[in-house]
Amino acid sequence: MNIDDRFPLDDRHRLIDWYQQGHRDLPWRATRDPYRILVSEVMLQQTQAERVIPRYHDFLERFPTIQALADAPSSDVIRAWSGLGYNRRALNLQRTARAVVERHARRMPSDPAVLRDLPGIGPYTAGAIACFAFEQDVAFVDTNIRRVIHRVVAGPDVPEPRLSGRTIDEISRALVPAGKGYAWNQALMELGATICRARMTACERCPLQDICVARPVIQPLLADRPRAKAAQPKFETTSRYFRGRIMAALSASADSGLTLRELGPLVKVDFQPSDARWLRGLVDGLAHDGLVVRALTVHRGIAEPAPVYDAGSPDLDARFRLPD
Ligand code: SF4
Repeated sequence: MNIDDRFPLDDRHRLIDWYQQGHRDLPWRATRDPYRILVSEVMLQQTQAERVIPRYHDFLERFPTIQALADAPSSDVIRAWSGLGYNRRALNLQRTARAVVERHARRMPSDPAVLRDLPGIGPYTAGAIACFAFEQDVAFVDTNIRRVIHRVVAGPDVPEPRLSGRTIDEISRALVPAGKGYAWNQALMELGATICRARMTACERCPLQDICVARPVIQPLLADRPRAKAAQPKFETTSRYFRGRIMAALSASADSGLTLRELGPLVKVDFQPSDARWLRGLVDGLAHDGLVVRALTVHRGIAEPAPVYDAGSPDLDARFRLPD
């Protein structure tokens, strides 16, 4: 595939012009501060932009610098993250901040290869920081970028994509227009988020409609797709939901945390002692992820680990709290 034939440079510039003529006003587009870009990218990993915006401002007010985030107790970071979900992101973000402070004297590296060596940073986030903070001409692929590139150069990505992830990565690297990496990647993401969406496209308003391979067929194909996959379990019955409830209850509690007996009714309205093993399993999973720790009990002024449970009946007086 000759990529310059499939996606000529003039058309890439047309996409950039489209972006520059009007795009969503997102706060992380008004900064090149690497720390702010890092926070936004981690928040955006599994949360929509509209939900992220207020939390991004709150988080930066609470932790205005990478040093402030590195120095904070992890419990404060988890509390500040409360409600965004996927709480491991909060701990990973703090691990990244601590590594930048310790290894790089508080200065975020600009080289994607060095960024990828930081804990909690994958290829996508490394590329996004190098591009959006340091304006480097690097390629990185998220779901929006992957979808747009696939449709334009290879046709519909439904019912199954024709190109592998590796091929899309190679194409995306070849497409970055010299000196325009920032606007190019923002434009691809903007098009994927607003015009060329996963389940609906507005091809008639798309600046790439003249060259797009998918254009003639994508709308009927998407219209024919079943609306929903086979019945999914209701979110309120999932472990993820109850893990979120546990984190919310511990975030709202005093630093000493809560016993399983106190936690149970806050997590599940009709909590029964027979649910203790289930609850303990969820808490153990969170402890494994570093999001909660077992609290010590104080007996006659001496802190000691809470008693070991009988494997058959978890101790409802075992206490858990957020990490320091
Ligand atoms: S023409 Fe349609 S399918 Fe092609 S990139 Fe634009 S919105 Fe997507």
